[in-house]
Amino acid sequence: MNDFYQKLAAIRHDIHQNPEISEREYNTTEFLKGYLAELDIHIVEDDLKTGVIAEIGHGLPVIALRADIDALPIKEKTGLDFASHNGAMHACGHDFHQTSLLGAAEILKGMEPDLKGTLRLFFQPAEEVSKGAYQVIEADGLKDVSAVIGYHNYPHFKPGQIGLRSKAIMAAVEKFTVRVSGVSGHAARPDLGADTVLAITTMINSLQAIVARMTSPFEPTVLSVTHIEVGSTWNVMPKDGFFEGTIRSFDPAGRATLRQRFNKIVENTADQFGVDVAIDWGRTPTVTYNDETLTPLIFENSKRFADVFEVEPLSIGEDFAAYQEQVPGVFALIGSNGDEGAADLHHDTYTVKDEALETAVTYYVENAQLLLDYFASKG
Ligand SMILES: [Zn+2]
Ligand SMILES: [Zn+2]
Repeated sequence: MNDFYQKLAAIRHDIHQNPEISEREYNTTEFLKGYLAELDIHIVEDDLKTGVIAEIGHGLPVIALRADIDALPIKEKTGLDFASHNGAMHACGHDFHQTSLLGAAEILKGMEPDLKGTLRLFFQPAEEVSKGAYQVIEADGLKDVSAVIGYHNYPHFKPGQIGLRSKAIMAAVEKFTVRVSGVSGHAARPDLGADTVLAITTMINSLQAIVARMTSPFEPTVLSVTHIEVGSTWNVMPKDGFFEGTIRSFDPAGRATLRQRFNKIVENTADQFGVDVAIDWGRTPTVTYNDETLTPLIFENSKRFADVFEVEPLSIGEDFAAYQEQVPGVFALIGSNGDEGAADLHHDTYTVKDEALETAVTYYVENAQLLLDYFASKG
């Protein structure tokens, strides 16, 4: 690695050692602002509590480059000499993301007089809790934006590799919580009560029919119930219980149907057993859906500096999808490890390789210019 990437690697280690969880990225935000100010990059005044919006260049078109900055509440077990000891961990590699955007910012600042418009940089908070993209949008981050690009580091690809595809690249995420309330009583006289246990187990069984019997085999969909709580002893029918879980799917238009089917099964079952039910759907990302015009352009352009190939969609989610609901966007997977048995995202031994930074920086730098030129020529 040359001096520039050695410097970036040192910055990443520093960020890695001082992680902050979603919506508490205070020191990270201060650090980013200080670093950008030193590069003489304009920091946009906004209402963000954490996170930074900055700009290079001026006028239209505006292209947004996004990196997320938050860590997870995981106790790190990597054994790295720059491991975190504060109970949080950059186990999703957002230390890598923000460092690569700082690197790209420095290079693009050097090209500022030649840029055909404005590059708006989102150092986005709170991705892990699916709030940060909405906060950036509410802070007017997408004003005048023609397109947005971003990426996630991907441990199963090697440094220098980029996985990309048009249309869905990451899943829509649903998070459901169902609270069930029956009539408690003696286990010996269930006929005098309303059984919450049987209602919940029947609901969970019936819900499996949504994927198995009601969804096209050509539309990959997952429904997982992951947490149940009901009852406390052997001879009392409990009054209250709940379960929660998630649905993952790839058709933006199909989300509403999945939720309707879910609601119907749960409500009908509740009716059948005489219990009350309340269903809560969390605010979660929709499909990360890559623009069908811009993605092939970025695919071809990235071949100049990386090994680019088409990928299958991932069943994890990304709040980058919130930007793509408003403006065309492209989201890539950039190789960050590639070793056999490399830890997966969100594991307490998760590591990325510094040598992967160059591809990530270049992805921003080259494709930001490509999109500025593209939208400038469209006028
Ligand atoms: Zn994550
Ligand atoms: Zn992530």
